[in-house]
Amino acid sequence: MTIKALIEKYRLRDDEYNDILGQFIQSTAEMFDMPIAFLAVVESETLWFKAKFGIKATEIPVNDSICRLVTETDSVIYIEDTLQDERSKDKLCVTGEPFIRFYAGVPFQLQGITLGSVCVMDSRPRVLTSQDVELLTKFSQHLAQCIELIYANLRTEDEHQLLNNSPAALIRWQAKPSVSTSYLSQNFSKLLRVEIPEDVSLFQLESYIYPEDLDGFMFAMRNHQQGASFCECDFRVVNKGHNPIWYKLVSRGIFEAGQLTAVQGLLLNNTEQKYLEQRILETNERMRLLLEASGLGTSDWDLRNDNMRVNNRMCDIVSMHPDSVDTSMMYWAQLVHPADKERMRDAIVDSLINPQTPLDIEYRLQSAAGGYRWIETYGKVVTRDENGRAERFAMTHRDITEKKLSDLEAENQRRLLGFINHAQNLFVAQKDLQLACEQIFPKLIDLAESEYGFIGKVHYEEDNPCLHIYAISDVSWSEETKKQYELFKQGKLRFTNLNNLFGHVITSNSPVIANAPRKHLASKGTPHGHPVLHRFLGLPIKQAGKAVGVIGLANKAEDYSQSDVDFLTPLTDTLANLFRAVEVEQARFEAEQRLEYLASTDALTGLMNRRAYFNRIQSLTDGEQANLCICIIDIDNFKKLNDSYGHPIGDSVLKEVARVLEHSVRSSDLVARLGGEEFGLFLDSGEEQQCSQILDTIMASIRAIRIDTEKGVLNNISISVGATLVCRSTQSATMFFDSAMKEADDALYEAKRQGKNRYFWHHQMHTQPADNDQQVAAVTH
Ligand code: GH3
Ligand code: MG
Ligand code: MG
Repeated sequence: MTIKALIEKYRLRDDEYNDILGQFIQSTAEMFDMPIAFLAVVESETLWFKAKFGIKATEIPVNDSICRLVTETDSVIYIEDTLQDERSKDKLCVTGEPFIRFYAGVPFQLQGITLGSVCVMDSRPRVLTSQDVELLTKFSQHLAQCIELIYANLRTEDEHQLLNNSPAALIRWQAKPSVSTSYLSQNFSKLLRVEIPEDVSLFQLESYIYPEDLDGFMFAMRNHQQGASFCECDFRVVNKGHNPIWYKLVSRGIFEAGQLTAVQGLLLNNTEQKYLEQRILETNERMRLLLEASGLGTSDWDLRNDNMRVNNRMCDIVSMHPDSVDTSMMYWAQLVHPADKERMRDAIVDSLINPQTPLDIEYRLQSAAGGYRWIETYGKVVTRDENGRAERFAMTHRDITEKKLSDLEAENQRRLLGFINHAQNLFVAQKDLQLACEQIFPKLIDLAESEYGFIGKVHYEEDNPCLHIYAISDVSWSEETKKQYELFKQGKLRFTNLNNLFGHVITSNSPVIANAPRKHLASKGTPHGHPVLHRFLGLPIKQAGKAVGVIGLANKAEDYSQSDVDFLTPLTDTLANLFRAVEVEQARFEAEQRLEYLASTDALTGLMNRRAYFNRIQSLTDGEQANLCICIIDIDNFKKLNDSYGHPIGDSVLKEVARVLEHSVRSSDLVARLGGEEFGLFLDSGEEQQCSQILDTIMASIRAIRIDTEKGVLNNISISVGATLVCRSTQSATMFFDSAMKEADDALYEAKRQGKNRYFWHHQMHTQPADNDQQVAAVTH
């Protein structure tokens, strides 16, 4: 420590020391019978007098002083005659005022450091004994001790001052012979606002403590008696007419040989803190009430010991009794819905690691009342250790089940309508019900949260209803069922037995909700090998109140309910419309076919008419180069026949001739009624011989016709045929047809001219003589 620091520490510049040190120095002077004595301190280049006797100056330059020799050598300097001593004879104090002739100085030390000197001086030469010098040294030491004492006193006073002005008061009890107050600090009365009796042993703190708080105080005192070193307690002290003041008593037991001898206590005004605590308690309570009122659940997760504290509202949300709730995070984690677990874990880990990322998540939590609740949780790490590791995680939870379900419902409705539209568009575009059903089916299964199912439409086979399957999940489990699935792919799968669970939808004309299918009255069980059926929902597809189809769904994770039926109603309605559309489409198609048939068919004979004949020849020969045979057949003398037998018999003849023609030609040939008693014959061959054979057969068959009439059997019907061999080349179809018909007609004319009942080839015209070897026959009447 430096001299400067020592001067400051001991406050040597203060006046506190002046009286005592002044008297001490005066006594020293008197003791040694010296006119001058002082205690001087060397500081920088100055020697200043802390206490002095017989001199006026307060300080002198250190170089002018003999004391400098003492501090420099740190030893006693004794000079009997300064004028005779080299060390002193030139000093100012020797050559001038106060003309010192005798000097004796000893070092003055504090804490072993020399600060200056204690000296006695005279203006005449003197002699001191060595005992005197030793005594002076002792005096110097006494002075130092004196300073130490004054310093200690100053400090204690400071402390007292501090204590008296502090909000803390001291109390001490002695334990023996009996417990009684032995000391009270000066500020005790002021701090506690109590009267202190003259005799402090009569003061009893407990008589001022609020009765409700006395237990805590007595407990602390008893603890000391049982060996506790430190105790703490809070209590209020009766304060007439004013608000009570809270005190904290920190007490220390003092023991001797294991026996309590005294208790020392520090009393602190604790009202402020108590008030704050109270405020926090009230705020917390208000917060709690607010949270309860807002329906917010809270939890506080202490990661250091995996302790999860949740409030009552949180227990309410999952229908649990607060006492039955486990306090580990694991317990809560296993209540999270399996589908949400991974997402939940990732989000928590993320916010534990990253302070910028609070937990904000919606998920499902299993409820003790059954099912799951949708929870929205917001959470944040509230304390971390020095390494940034999360220690506490606070969360609030909101039950959003109702909102979530309605959101999900809206979303599902949207999806449902979406794929209903899709199905309708598909059907309109492709007119294929199976394709439309197959397209929407996977989405339906997904939306209905089911495992498998089918869509079927009622068909009637000989008045027995059966179910035609338009879409079905592939659940085949055997060769036979694989074949059934193949049948479905070809649009041919039918369920003929309706005496079962899905058939019940049709027969009862209402939905079947079977969450325990085996117990359902309509259940006939499932075939061996069929996937287990846990739950079944059958929805009727209705037209005019009557079930015309079924949607069957199986194995939802939760029970099917009326709300599933309601939810899927738009789909069953749409399918009903599609079924209706299919029927309308079918009817339209059939009408078209009929019209087409009527437009192209001769009503009397059922043969195609001239227009259809032309169209068919055109389509058969379109774009091809081919050799063909075109014939016109005309019944001979038909007018006469009509006249003789009547028109209806004439009609019968036309029909019989038509039947013969039909049966005489090959499948690639064509027969038509061109009008009246004229028929067209198209032979798919350019070979005259082959065609002639066919014509021979036809003529023979016609001659063999026998018709019973009132006028006896009508037979010997004959025909004349004009035939031509043509090549379908690059001509237009119409030109080709018209020219071929013209040639055939010319040939027919020639056949008639030559006597009827024959055929004539066009290419023989003008080359052939009039008679031929064909049989000439006439209908004889
Ligand atoms: P030809 O041997 O020269 O062919 O003499 P044809 O009498 O057979 O021929 P024509 O053209 O003189 O008479 C045809 C008759 O066919 C006239 C008509 O009354 C009769 N006819 C036309 N269409 C029908 C019909 O649909 N039913 C009946 N029964 N007769 C018909
Ligand atoms: Mg004719
Ligand atoms: Mg005729």
